[in-house]
Order: sequence, then structure tokens, then C-alpha cells
Amino acid sequence: MNLSSVQTEPTRTRADVQALLEKPLLDLVFEAAAVHRQHQDAGYVQCSQLLSIKTGGCPEDCNYCSQSAHFSTPVAKEPLMEVDQVLASAKQAKEGGADRFCMGAAWREVKDGPEFDQVLNMVREVKALGMETCVTLGMLTKGQAQRLKEAGLDYYNHNLDTGRDHYDKVITTRSYDDRLETLNAVREADLNVCCGGILGLGEKSSDRAQLLLELASMSPPPESVPINSLVAVEGTPLGETAPVDWSEFVRVIAAARILMPSATLRLSAGRGEMSEEAQALCFLAGANSIFMGDELLTTPNPAPDSDAALLSKLGLRTQATP
Ligand code: SF4
Repeated sequence: MNLSSVQTEPTRTRADVQALLEKPLLDLVFEAAAVHRQHQDAGYVQCSQLLSIKTGGCPEDCNYCSQSAHFSTPVAKEPLMEVDQVLASAKQAKEGGADRFCMGAAWREVKDGPEFDQVLNMVREVKALGMETCVTLGMLTKGQAQRLKEAGLDYYNHNLDTGRDHYDKVITTRSYDDRLETLNAVREADLNVCCGGILGLGEKSSDRAQLLLELASMSPPPESVPINSLVAVEGTPLGETAPVDWSEFVRVIAAARILMPSATLRLSAGRGEMSEEAQALCFLAGANSIFMGDELLTTPNPAPDSDAALLSKLGLRTQATP
């Protein structure tokens, strides 16, 4: 357990978190920026790159997802990639400045067998490049989490997506408690937890408060918290949904920073639709991690050159530009 991230904050309620979310925006950002500077190096941004190692055909019905087999979307199904292909992509990511390589498979759950063995090999090989490793493979058991740990995995990503009360309006094939059970297995295997959510799933501010409280109440809270803004994909039930206003996104980033001072907070999906100015406000409010590369699993991401230019304008350092 990482003792430095154990919560020392007083117990908060959902109403407390909602009150935080509803503060005047600039007061909220100011408070979050102060917390960020107290607990972290505010001039540093961690850079990850994400690769879809097995795309589409997922039996889950997440209403936002282009990879669900329940919906007809433009995403084509592809089998599990070969280790060599993944390794080539990881090398490229490293050369491009990423320090963590994340691999995502559109599975409901991990099944023991040759495909899982192949993923374990990917983790070993990427780790051997000197990069941090992260995978997202759906639900898994403690034994499987342990095998990933032994292969050299640093982080396991499994998002809660939204607050418990809103969850079954978005996903019906798996429960909130299933998610928490997987997160427990990950934690018990002494892996770092990467867990966050998505804004723009039709949730209310109180649902966002519930999600943030759930994350912050974990003991310890996740080491990595990705905050996504829905990228509406044609053919999914949420395909016509209007994008979340930038100010709402900044609010959630700021509240997450205040509630989880030691976590790495990642601007994830939807960053491509955000202006540089809105991203700058997110960094001020405590975001300190981004995904690099042109694509995030199956949706577009800002081009690496524009990211480098933005970070340079803001005077933010990365592992590649210390
Ligand atoms: S979000 Fe993940 S679990 Fe849900 S449908 Fe997409 S790939 Fe499957």
C-alpha cells in the first residue's frame, strides 16, 4: 500500500462533493491549484500512450462504446495483436515521448489460456523497454491480477464510468459491484489502480459527485484517475449526445484534485475537442497526465506536435522534455 496516498481528509458526503462542484468556477480552480501545488510538482505532466490490442466485438453493452457488439458502429472487429506488433508500437510511443504504454482489449473479462498468455508476454516485453505498463482487459480474478503483476504490470485500468445511481442507465451487462470486485482484485495483487469516469453520459451533477466520492473513498484512492468527456460515436445509443461544456469538465478535474491530492489526474478522451485554453485551465486545476498519440483506442486524439506545442507554451515538463 502506498502510505503517502492514504486519505487523511475528513469524511465527506455526496452533498459536500456536490457543493464543491457547484462553487464559483474560478474559486474552485484556485483551491484545486493550491492543493495541486502542495502535493505535487505542478510543472510536470505524465504522458501515456494507448493502443487497442484487440478491437471490437465486445459482449458488454456500454452505451457510449464503439466496440460493443450490441451496436452497429464504424469500428471493425480485429483479433488480438501479435506481441511483435505491440512491441513496435510501444517503441514508437517511447520515441514519441510516452513514459507509460497502455494496452486495451475489448473483452468482457480475462480468460485463462493462450490469449491471456500472449498479453502477459506483451507486458513483459513492453516493461523490458523501460516503460511503465498498463492494461485494461475487463473483469479479472485475483489470480489473474497476480500473474499480470509477476509479468511486470504497473497499472490496471478499470473505470467506474459514472456514479452508482446512474450506472444502470449506461451499462446493463455488468454491475457496479462487479467493477468494484475487479478493482479489489487489482489492489490485492499490489498493482496500481487506474480508475476514473466519463462525463456526458446523461448524468446529473449529483451523479458526478457520487462518482468522485466513490473514487476518493477507496482506501487508498486510485493512483491514476482518467477523466473522459464522451466522444459521441455514430451507432451507439449515446451517439447523438451533445458534448459536455468545457466548464463542467474543468469543475470535475478541480474537484477530483481537491479530493485526491496525490493521484495522477489524466485528461483522457474528449481532449481533442477541447480548446488549448480549456486544457490550460484543466492543467491549472490539477490535471497532470495526458494520452499522447493520434488515436485513443478508436477515437481521435490531438496530434503529438500540437501537444508538444501546448505543453511548451505552458512551460510544462514531461519525462521526454525534463
Ligand atoms: S467500454 Fe470496454 S467493456 Fe464496455 S463495450 Fe467498450 S470495450 Fe466492452
